[in-house]
Amino acid sequence: MGALRIFTLQKPFVHNSDEVQGTFQITEALITVIDKNHVYCMANTAFFKRWGFTFDQVIGCPIEKVFDSQTYTRMKPHLDRCLKGESVAFEMPFDYPEIGLTDALVRLDPVLNSEGKIDHAVSMVSDTPKIKITADTYQQIDPQAEANNAFLQSLLTLSQMSEASDQEVKEYTLEAAVQLTKSRIGYLHFIREGKKPIETITWSKDVLKQCNVQEGTHALTDQAGIWAASIKKRQAVIHNDVESMNHKIGYPEGHLNVRRHMSVPVLDKEKVVAVVGVGNKTAPYDRFDVDRLTLLINNMSVILKRQQAERALKRYSMEDGLTGLANRRIFDIVLRNEWKRALRDQNPLSVIMMDIDFFKAYNDIYGHQGGDDCLRQVARCLRKNIRRAGDLVARYGGEEFVAVLPNTDLDGAIKVADAMRDSVLHIKIRHKGSNVHENVSISAGVASSVPNREKSSSDMLKIADKALYKAKNDGRNRTEWLAH
Ligand code: GH3
Ligand code: MG
Ligand code: MG
Repeated sequence: MGALRIFTLQKPFVHNSDEVQGTFQITEALITVIDKNHVYCMANTAFFKRWGFTFDQVIGCPIEKVFDSQTYTRMKPHLDRCLKGESVAFEMPFDYPEIGLTDALVRLDPVLNSEGKIDHAVSMVSDTPKIKITADTYQQIDPQAEANNAFLQSLLTLSQMSEASDQEVKEYTLEAAVQLTKSRIGYLHFIREGKKPIETITWSKDVLKQCNVQEGTHALTDQAGIWAASIKKRQAVIHNDVESMNHKIGYPEGHLNVRRHMSVPVLDKEKVVAVVGVGNKTAPYDRFDVDRLTLLINNMSVILKRQQAERALKRYSMEDGLTGLANRRIFDIVLRNEWKRALRDQNPLSVIMMDIDFFKAYNDIYGHQGGDDCLRQVARCLRKNIRRAGDLVARYGGEEFVAVLPNTDLDGAIKVADAMRDSVLHIKIRHKGSNVHENVSISAGVASSVPNREKSSSDMLKIADKALYKAKNDGRNRTEWLAH
């Protein structure tokens, strides 16, 4: 299968980000979004400019009507493949007004909706360089086409917010929703259906400017105002004349006067998880507003879900990414378990804390990349010194490593620590910035005890840390210990 992604606009743009970002704005490429009935839902300015179509001649119209049946026949098999989940690229001729039939490169990528199903394709046609367009061949640009362009830009930005926090993604989406629908106000509420307090509430900047929003004023009850209508109906709702609505629930004091309103629910496996609403557009809201808002909000929801999944994965991952050793999370779990076991069996348990000497200077001299290489080599070396089945060595943080040795008393642990120190020295990583040795060295602190109920595993770790501190103070490149 081709590149099936959560949000397709990302790949064609991102895989050559600079070029395509630029292209998108200056818009040489003709970009459209096509639905599963092969109807155009969106198109960028370049598309309208190139073909001289008006908005109504394209949006909501099937490909074969916009172009001709021959063009459609050429495109259809590729589009079918794309809507089944493949990214496809192919050449096909288009009938250009200036030069007649000429081949252009077409790329089709599937778009997933919030349920993970494909119901759209993004088409990018690279406008052929052979064609020279003079300024007067440009048609007057339809304002709706400009709106679509802005919309595509928002989707693109959203798809690239992988480093942003949930709140930033929500705020960006909401501001885009307000602007793209030419609204004055907006809100985005995450809810847990059937449960009361709303999970998170985000107001658009305008709302925050215009009124003093009180916490908890939007309860999700049967008494909830028009904002909850789309939750009940499970579909987009437009209120173009809020004033004359029957059964309207009055606003609490200080509430903004809402004249027009449109809201769209976000569904996840049949459940409404969020609702986005905008209000007070000067013209009536229409189906284009609904379409744009729906696509925007669904993409936001997919991006948030993906980010949450990535965060969870990171949290549950066990390895340190740089060295491949166990990470601190796993070390903490293992130490706690070993402590319990040793307490039960009344066996000795030891930990060794280790820290590379003058590592800051190492980084300063050999660069961060060099520092990382050094950490990897030291890690490999420490792992080699772990021989018994229950032993574990982990990266505790930065240039600190830690080992837990079950069934090992103080003498045994000191031996292991010295062996580790010795073998690190013997990898002979040159270190010009060290005051204790010509090569990279480590200091080690050991703690050992037969656990009792008065103490905990973290006490033992603190003792090892103190011993390490002593080793550093006493001149580094040495092992120190404290009885626990
Ligand atoms: P000491 O002998 O007392 O341990 O001195 P030090 O310079 O090793 O200790 P310090 O804590 O002052 O500096 C540790 C440095 O380790 C700071 C940081 O530059 C570096 N460091 C921490 N984590 C990483 C990492 O993941 N990669 C690299 N390259 N450097 C790191
Ligand atoms: Mg340190
Ligand atoms: Mg150090």
